[in-house]
Amino acid sequence: MIISMKKFATKEEVEHVCERIREFGFKVHSIVGDERVVIGAVGVGDVTPCLEMLEATSGVETAVRISAPYKFVSREFQREATRIKVNGAEVGGDEFIVMAGPCSVESEKQIMETAEGVAAAGARILRGGAFKPRTSPYEFQGLERDGLKLLAKAREATGLSIVTEVLSEKDVEMVAEYANIMQVGARNMQNFALLKALGKCQRPVLLKRGMSSTIKELLMSAEYLVAHGNPNIMLCERGIRTFETATRNTCDIAAVSVLHELTHLPVILDPSHATGRRSLVPSLARAGVAIGAEGLIVEVHPCPEKAFSDGAQSMTLETFRDMMRDLKPYIELWKSSRVAATAAV
Ligand code: PEP
Ligand code: MN
Repeated sequence: MIISMKKFATKEEVEHVCERIREFGFKVHSIVGDERVVIGAVGVGDVTPCLEMLEATSGVETAVRISAPYKFVSREFQREATRIKVNGAEVGGDEFIVMAGPCSVESEKQIMETAEGVAAAGARILRGGAFKPRTSPYEFQGLERDGLKLLAKAREATGLSIVTEVLSEKDVEMVAEYANIMQVGARNMQNFALLKALGKCQRPVLLKRGMSSTIKELLMSAEYLVAHGNPNIMLCERGIRTFETATRNTCDIAAVSVLHELTHLPVILDPSHATGRRSLVPSLARAGVAIGAEGLIVEVHPCPEKAFSDGAQSMTLETFRDMMRDLKPYIELWKSSRVAATAAV
């Protein structure tokens, strides 16, 4: 059940409702917004008597049954798409958002050159890892705080916002000092300690799908963030592991539509990690626009052959610019179908 309290319901009314819900044997998770409190009631058993009680309780606006185990992020709970403001840009709004940049922040020259190039090509958000989750402990692990500082410098120079990965709960505060969006990588999608820490942090989160995770598990991880206080979440399809070896991962393109049915959260497609090969990125990016994803996250490097990580899937600045140019007519169609979809809600 999700109980939406009336705008400006009193603290006593909220507490009374929580108490009554507990008496019915349900656990309570409240989200305190600027104007209203929303309460999630979770548990087993018939909710009908509790719903009837809530209808007659003062301060309650609506109480609805939600069957999905991910309650706050479900479409049942919220029909309208979530829009997330990131500086001047809005993810999930009327603009198709492109995030682009290197896999790893390597040097001032590299990040500045990339930031300027991707901004000129139309990207709104600069990506770049300062903490890198590498399979081998001997590979480049990232510049850490120095990398974050370089990202902040690139933001100052270009006006781009920053999305960057946070690997560990102990680094949440530090990364939040510099980042506009906190990235949770595929390997950490079910790092529940990290999710809880990010729940308390007010920065938006880009939550990447684990490489062996189901869509339901992705949504349960998003629910962790909301249940711990942070509703500003973008989901990211970045390919999953299958028996296929022709691509680095198998892009589950249908996941974008499935997610749109199941959740109100925006969905970002990562055609770089989904394929592992730069030649495949433009066509998959087009597929992402066509299927109605809210944006893309793409790896770009001024000299991919010298990249410290993921060079094979990184586009050059020139090929990225060409891709952005070629995507324009598709993005125009995306805009008109979006207007139609919003009108239909
Ligand atoms: C990345 O964005 O560079 C990254 C490590 O992605 P993923 O977590 O999807 O593998
Ligand atoms: Mn990468």
